[in-house]
Amino acid sequence: MQFSETYDVVVIGAGHAGCEAAMAAARMGLRTALYTLNLDLIAQMSCNPAVGGIAKGHLVREVDALGGIQGEVTDHVGIQFRLLNTSRGPAVWSPRAQCDKQQYKIHMRQVLESQPNLRIKQAEVADLIIEEAGGRKQEAGADVSGDRRLATGDSRRRCVGIALRDGRTVRAEAVVITTGTFLNGLIHCGEQTYPAGRSGEPPSVLLGEALKRLGLRGCRLKTGTPPRLDARTIDWSRFEPQPGDADPTPFSFRTRRVTHADGQVACHIAFTTPETHRIIRENVHRSPMYSGQIKSIGPRYCPSIEDKIVKFPHHEKHQLFLEPEGLNTYETYLNGMSTSLPIDVQLAMVASVPGLEKAEMLRPGYAIEYDSIDPTELERTLETKKIEGLFLAGQINGTSGYEEAACQGIMAGINAALKVKNEPPLVLDRTEAYTAILIDDLISKGTLEPYRMFTSRAEFRLHLRIDNADRRLSPHGRRVGLIGDQAWADYLAKQQRMSALKDYLENTRPSGLPAALAEKIGNAAGATYAQLLKRPEVTIEDFVPMLRRNVPELLFLADDQRPTTDDSSILPSQLRNELKSVETEIKYAGYLQQQERAIERLKKAEQRSIPDWFDYASVSGLSREMKEKLQRVRPRTIAQASRIPGVTPAAVSLVNVYIEIQARRHASSLSTAD
Ligand SMILES: Cc1cc2nc3c(=O)[nH]c(=O)nc-3n(C[C@H](O)[C@H](O)[C@H](O)COP(=O)(O)OP(=O)(O)OC[C@H]3O[C@@H](n4cnc5c(N)ncnc54)[C@H](O)[C@@H]3O)c2cc1C
Repeated sequence: MQFSETYDVVVIGAGHAGCEAAMAAARMGLRTALYTLNLDLIAQMSCNPAVGGIAKGHLVREVDALGGIQGEVTDHVGIQFRLLNTSRGPAVWSPRAQCDKQQYKIHMRQVLESQPNLRIKQAEVADLIIEEAGGRKQEAGADVSGDRRLATGDSRRRCVGIALRDGRTVRAEAVVITTGTFLNGLIHCGEQTYPAGRSGEPPSVLLGEALKRLGLRGCRLKTGTPPRLDARTIDWSRFEPQPGDADPTPFSFRTRRVTHADGQVACHIAFTTPETHRIIRENVHRSPMYSGQIKSIGPRYCPSIEDKIVKFPHHEKHQLFLEPEGLNTYETYLNGMSTSLPIDVQLAMVASVPGLEKAEMLRPGYAIEYDSIDPTELERTLETKKIEGLFLAGQINGTSGYEEAACQGIMAGINAALKVKNEPPLVLDRTEAYTAILIDDLISKGTLEPYRMFTSRAEFRLHLRIDNADRRLSPHGRRVGLIGDQAWADYLAKQQRMSALKDYLENTRPSGLPAALAEKIGNAAGATYAQLLKRPEVTIEDFVPMLRRNVPELLFLADDQRPTTDDSSILPSQLRNELKSVETEIKYAGYLQQQERAIERLKKAEQRSIPDWFDYASVSGLSREMKEKLQRVRPRTIAQASRIPGVTPAAVSLVNVYIEIQARRHASSLSTAD
């Protein structure tokens, strides 16, 4: 059969996961095509036009450190930047940016279109072309001829391409599906329901049915979004403004500075009132969530306003944020009021907020139910266990969020490309990245509700900070070909500078402390800079005037960033980030070493692998329930087995013992077979 087109990698869906996956595969030198329903809606921000926030900012930094693009695009189109949680420890500092929603799409499309090896195309993907194990029989009625490039020796069925709704077929060595909330999407707004992938966009029904035919376990999830308002009809005098940071912390390690900091806009803080709550309480029976119209489970951590009123009846008020959707629009996002209540109720509850009495609603809030695939069907590379060459990434795997989607997208894109190149996969472990924690949580535990990242999901969060994501992951990005020469040279120079600075601070005793600092520190006799820095009241900024005088070469100051005054409170963001990173390493050295030992123990357990052929059914003493749980996930390591919900330590140690026993049996069965 003749294919209409042929690529190495095909990505389905130009959302936040698909853009990262396509860019990664193309930048790794593979001929890549990205198919999506509407080229004008690439990287559409279906929910609030914000990137980052608690733990999500960590994921964006990791995508960037690997060589992804979400961070750079955000730095380019952000209209309000804030570094969150700076009053707490550095493990939970997290960048957040409100973005210009239109510019985000425009800039992302420019980045994609300027990428060699990448073609982006508008078409609905209706089916997958599957080659039976060893055979040639096809799912989509297409017959694949010609030798496969990869002698995979793999007994699984294999995905060898896609079929478009318009009849064309496209051959590919690997396919990545990133279809978000579109699979059998169903919108709910009060009693109204209608099929859609997002408001104003068709659902993806044919592909959804094709995935069911492949026997991939699915689940039904739900998410929601609030109404959007017209800024001209809001009484802004009633709300407290929340401005951006004067010198924003960029997301990307490759962004020297956010140059448009002066043009930032503010978000505003609002609150619901008892009247709002009364309106909702009296109408909650009309919400699809409470009328039984929606059966699936929504994101616990992005609850609808009706959820909040029902679950927290004694709360006098709930916080809302009025967030601008861009510099060239009056559209304003009402964060915190996600709802699927009927329109008349939405109008009444918005009007009950002081300052919004006359606010005009541009778009109503709504909920959407959609099919996702049970992520326990996936390997740690995000390839499906059942179908070789088929990868899934993004909300299709049960997550919620642009950032959660992007980190899966880049990992799926990298591993699809490595598979086509016949190179070893990139598998990160939980101790080196939130990205790894997200993937490991999904494939080991599955998810019955949309999964979003939190810093509390990390065992070693002091190691997984935003400031050291490049040290943790850029070497991986460089190895696979996503970190270019200039970025790599900058990275090496930064590591060298920071280690020299740390060395200097640990081995130098300051002389002639400025009076104010001497008074603050008190007795500093004989102490090194590092010893002084361990004191809670001392910060590295205190030492900047002396460092600038004594070791200016250790302070990163690009020519365009030479500060005009000695005032260390206005350090250029890149220098500030480097200094704070060194400060953290010194201040928390004790904790970090303690965690190193625990990390080594976990890594050892991760190295104890469970062979593909391991037979849980023949482990005597293992309960049927344990066998089912372990068989469903088929963990790759003992550590992963221990993280499967409900699998007991006793079951894990039994499996551990039986690995040796079955290995002997397996070896003898192979020798008799020869
Ligand atoms: C109503 C709503 C509310 C949300 N609320 C929140 C929230 O509160 N917090 C939060 O963090 N996240 C929220 N999200 C989720 C957030 O938008 C997603 O997590 C994110 O966009 C997922 O990225 P993705 O790449 O997986 O999919 P998407 O960004 O949805 O992109 C999917 C892409 O696939 C394409 N596609 C689908 N089917 C096909 C096909 N058959 N052929 C070709 N192309 C196809 C679509 O055109 C689209 O471009 C919400 C989403 C929606 C729709």
